[in-house]
Amino acid sequence: MLYDYFGRPLNSLRIQVNASCNFKCFFCHMEGTDENTVTLSPEEIERAVAVAAKNGVNRVKFTGGEPLLRKDLEEIISRTRKHIAGDISLTTNAYFLKQRVSALHTAGLNRINISMHSIESDRFIDITRVDALGIVEEGIDAALEAGLSPIKINFVVLRGVNEHQIDSMVDFAAGKGAILQLIEYETDRKGEESESFRRYHYDLRIIENRLAKYAKSVEYNSLHNRKKMHITSSKGRDAVVEFVRPQRNADFCNHCTRLRITSKGEFQTCLNRNDQFFAFRGKDEEGVFDSFKNAVHARVPYWRETDESSY
Ligand code: SAM
Repeated sequence: MLYDYFGRPLNSLRIQVNASCNFKCFFCHMEGTDENTVTLSPEEIERAVAVAAKNGVNRVKFTGGEPLLRKDLEEIISRTRKHIAGDISLTTNAYFLKQRVSALHTAGLNRINISMHSIESDRFIDITRVDALGIVEEGIDAALEAGLSPIKINFVVLRGVNEHQIDSMVDFAAGKGAILQLIEYETDRKGEESESFRRYHYDLRIIENRLAKYAKSVEYNSLHNRKKMHITSSKGRDAVVEFVRPQRNADFCNHCTRLRITSKGEFQTCLNRNDQFFAFRGKDEEGVFDSFKNAVHARVPYWRETDESSY
């Protein structure tokens, strides 16, 4: 297991398998890359995973772009499963999920996060530019049927756009037996000055405080230092809500154990850092390990206590 200079172990990879997406969510940080990038082959991904696994990584999350735009995602997952005994999960907009979820599960996928940023069709279109709420809901049902567990629904809270839907989303997720992840709009320091961020950023602590008042219990996920609340939804269902609050959150960064792999074939130390990429494409195992090790050692918590206190 490798540690960075802040004592944080590195045990998890977030792999961006492509940069293109069929949705155009206006707030999307694009995982730091533009659409015109090369993508790694399944063999190249496997080599990087194998090196990381030999050095302590036991969890992998796949993301994009939209990962299901890749026809070979099942192969990528089954190659990953050869090296990773722990959790393999996927974040998707679920547009192509219904047809493929069973094969993805067979390939070795355990868990899934489905992005659904609105429960109202017109707002869904405003946010994603695609009329697909019904298709996404079918994807959620198919994932349930395939036995993926837990299913998490990602909901980025946007001021004046979907903040009024939170109680309905809590009830919707509870009705599916899914965990609702309320995610704070995240950006880097430069992005904080953008018009979009100033206009739509919503401080999740407001919702945390409101829901905490009627929570049956509140847990902490020590890995990400996230709050998880068990509450009763507006329609009386048992609901679980997690809060993902990375923005200016020093605790979040202090508990970060993850390295990213970009679709171009680089280890990236942090989604918010656009100056720390360690390329490994085309390198042999030893070369991949060098890039991996250099990336781990370059990791620095992006948000520090001083940032948080000025929030
Ligand atoms: N296309 C897939 C999807 O929609 O889930 C995977 C990629 S998407 C970039 C991964 C996750 O990042 C989604 O849940 C998305 O909502 C979230 N996300 C994107 N931009 C964000 C931002 N600026 N702040 C917070 N979350 C964001």
